[in-house]
Amino acid sequence: MTQKDYDEIFTKLLELFPNPDTELNFETPFQLLVAVMLSAQTTDRQVNVVTDKLFLKVKNPNNVLNMTEEEFTKQVSSVNYYKMKAKHIRETAKKLIELAAEKNSKLTKNEKECFDKYWYYLPESIEWLTQLPWVGEKTAKVILYVRYHHDIIAVDTHIHRVANRLWIVKTKEPLETSKEIEKAVPKKWKRIAHHSLILFGRYYCTAKKPQCENCVLKDFCRNPQI
Ligand code: SF4
Repeated sequence: MTQKDYDEIFTKLLELFPNPDTELNFETPFQLLVAVMLSAQTTDRQVNVVTDKLFLKVKNPNNVLNMTEEEFTKQVSSVNYYKMKAKHIRETAKKLIELAAEKNSKLTKNEKECFDKYWYYLPESIEWLTQLPWVGEKTAKVILYVRYHHDIIAVDTHIHRVANRLWIVKTKEPLETSKEIEKAVPKKWKRIAHHSLILFGRYYCTAKKPQCENCVLKDFCRNPQI
């Protein structure tokens, strides 16, 4: 794929989604982390239904630990795998509080701003973030992208599917896509690539019934089924 092809693809995606951004609702960095952890195997819409109420009480890790396990679990009970997710979020809240005490003198500028404002911070590196219980590389990349504005692409099933249909990558697994797409997408488009590809996959190039007839990216499509 040439630079001109990428220019055309992402210009068209920008016309479809002028402000590609996360559809998860949150105010504080910790709420972002909780929303992303709840979103595994669950739609953003359903996560927002849960967090609209939950985030009235939960703004930081201490708020989670101040609730009983039963109370917290009940609050998230309408998302898939809620018991496991509630346990993971509570363990992550504990670890964040420990980390804040350990790492306070060595924070990055962004982490320090976060700490000064909220009295805790989210680590600004994949290595640190993935030390949090049950935070994997994809969740870590979403945090770096949304909270710390890193130009990074966190690959989910939508991006994996769309990137392969458009032949941005030719891969079999999302993990492989994650490595290849970072090399493939030109720097100038990295900032919008993450959310514009997700939104395109979510609303147009869906897994089962892609809207191929009116697709603005049809000229680039290599999906053998169309
Ligand atoms: S033509 Fe269909 S399969 Fe190809 S990118 Fe467009 S919506 Fe997706």
